[in-house]
Amino acid sequence: MKILVTGGAGYIGSHTCVQLLEHGMDVVVIDNLANSSEESLKRVQEISGRPLEFHKIDLLERAWLEALFRDHQFDAVIHFAGLKAVGESVQIPLSYYRNNISGTINLCETMANHNVKTIVFSSSATVYGEPEQVPITEEFPTAAYNPYGRTKLFIEEILKDLYNSDNAWNIVLLRYFNPVGAHKSGKIGEDPKGLPNNLMPFISQVAVGKLKELSVFGNDYSTPDGTGVRDYIHVVDLAIGHVKSLDKLLGKTGVHTYNLGTGRGYSVLEMIKAFEKVSGQRINFNIVDRRPGDIAECFADSTKALKELDWKTERDIDEMCADTWRWQSQNPDGYQ
Ligand code: NAD
Ligand code: UDP
Repeated sequence: MKILVTGGAGYIGSHTCVQLLEHGMDVVVIDNLANSSEESLKRVQEISGRPLEFHKIDLLERAWLEALFRDHQFDAVIHFAGLKAVGESVQIPLSYYRNNISGTINLCETMANHNVKTIVFSSSATVYGEPEQVPITEEFPTAAYNPYGRTKLFIEEILKDLYNSDNAWNIVLLRYFNPVGAHKSGKIGEDPKGLPNNLMPFISQVAVGKLKELSVFGNDYSTPDGTGVRDYIHVVDLAIGHVKSLDKLLGKTGVHTYNLGTGRGYSVLEMIKAFEKVSGQRINFNIVDRRPGDIAECFADSTKALKELDWKTERDIDEMCADTWRWQSQNPDGYQ
């Protein structure tokens, strides 16, 4: 089976490539390296002991996509490529809309031209906006509060319209909760450019001494300790979710939507404590104001993925922290 992975040099993409290769699939990656480096893919090949094919292609370059699809007969596409920083998306919304939405349209048009009609799309728990209750099931109403979230929601809608127009499509929408952790080898992991936006890379950069202290965004939420609660999921469990989706759904046309989370929430303070325990490092932090747009609590009901994909998470919070720490301490400057 030959799989095209867009954005495969990135954080979740690189971990998914390892799983695909280890499952015997042939992998072709395209990435414009806007937020990643080719080094991740070299390490993916080292870990899995198998080669993959890489092309530096931007999804906005339609002619290159066409040429790629002329050269390869893909069985499915896993579509990670996109810009993902919420704050940046507020500052440069048009770039986000062009990159994420136009990029996806180019991809789908090219797929249709070449009769490749299976796509697994990286959606996000952000499409639930501010949920009225937790845990969140796939049936909850959707909403978006920033341009990044709107790109995810619009793309979901575009893909549903595509299926309605042509029932030969097989569309899998995977709504990720909060991916953290790294491959056990310590060779690949999350390598944010500049100051991390997300909690886990920020904590690990404080632990390794690159950053002085963590700002905890608010301790007056209606949660047990007042800090925000999220469903952190190990990136390897998430990567396995993509392989299971292909295993179970290849050939089954339709639009299939799944939450990928653990079903358990951890607060910011619990994450700090867990990280201190496994790393043996002290995480200095300071309570500051809430970050605009943040919600109090968010965690998944992933029963549907268990029932239909035979998928559940296997890696707990200690493993998430230990694997993050191994990657961060062995690669303090990421892939550089
Ligand atoms: P990432 O930035 O590490 O990976 C995305 C990759 O896409 C990068 O390598 C980047 O260079 C590439 N890319 C971006 N625009 C491109 C374009 N026009 N053409 C070709 N390549 C392009 O991000 P990630 O954390 O691995 O996320 C992967 C996907 O999952 C994204 O779509 C993201 O929105 C989604 N997602 C991520 C999270 C998270 O917290 N990490 C949560 C929910 C959903
Ligand atoms: N958070 C924090 N300090 C940071 C980054 C995040 O206190 O430097 C908190 C944030 O308010 C939220 C949780 O950590 O409650 C997870 O934030 P992240 O940005 O990782 O994920 P998201 O908010 O997108 O779910």
